[in-house]
Amino acid sequence: MRQTLVAGNWKMNGSLDANRQLLNGIKAGVAEGVSAKVVVCPPAIYIPQAASLLNGSHVSWGGQNLSQEKSGAFTGEISADMLLDQQCEYVIVGHSERRALYGESDELVAQKYGAAQAAGLIPLLCVGELLEEREAGNTESVVARQLDAVIDKVGIAAIAEGIIAYEPVWAIGTGKTASPQQAQDVHAFIRRRVAEKDAGVAEKLQILYGGSVKPDNAVELFAMTDIDGGLIGGASLDAEGFLAICRAG
Ligand code: PEP
Repeated sequence: MRQTLVAGNWKMNGSLDANRQLLNGIKAGVAEGVSAKVVVCPPAIYIPQAASLLNGSHVSWGGQNLSQEKSGAFTGEISADMLLDQQCEYVIVGHSERRALYGESDELVAQKYGAAQAAGLIPLLCVGELLEEREAGNTESVVARQLDAVIDKVGIAAIAEGIIAYEPVWAIGTGKTASPQQAQDVHAFIRRRVAEKDAGVAEKLQILYGGSVKPDNAVELFAMTDIDGGLIGGASLDAEGFLAICRAG
């Protein structure tokens, strides 16, 4: 039985004041009892604030991105060890905004996944197709390419140490959610693809859905056999809404 995990990707949103309210609200709601594992991923500069406010709670935190390098002359970058210094457990890798806006290739995403996993972080690997790729019938081949790039680089044992998030790009921040069946079909495909390498790893692998998850669609999505929780963008910025999604698991 795989535990449901709900992770909030705050993207470039927040302020010290707003974060305090949001984090305290999430912490209080989770303390009342939520069976899902709950994770927040604030902007890097606010991770120390999250670490300080969430320390000792049942809410974990992580980064939204990391460098593939360990240290050195890489201005503006943040390493896996730096995230670990702030007690991060998780890091998002290969989010579609990083791929589209910052040119992250499958190869770079695979390097970042490897750097995170080798350092002891749990990489949350995002994969997903563009609308035109879905309309052309290429969803599975795109997702397979993104996934295989990582498996080929890091090996199947490292996949067992991570989490996959299927995030159809056309559903991110658009208010258009994949139907539970559309999402389930791709999740099942991902699990089959991993099972070709190792059935045991595939069975245990948590596969999250991301793309306009809201309190009113989370229950139906999380009820699907191969959907093990969600990666939540916009709806993770409101404590009550985010908690409602966490309770859907
Ligand atoms: C995301 O950023 O990963 C995401 C799924 O965003 P949203 O929930 O806003 O679609």
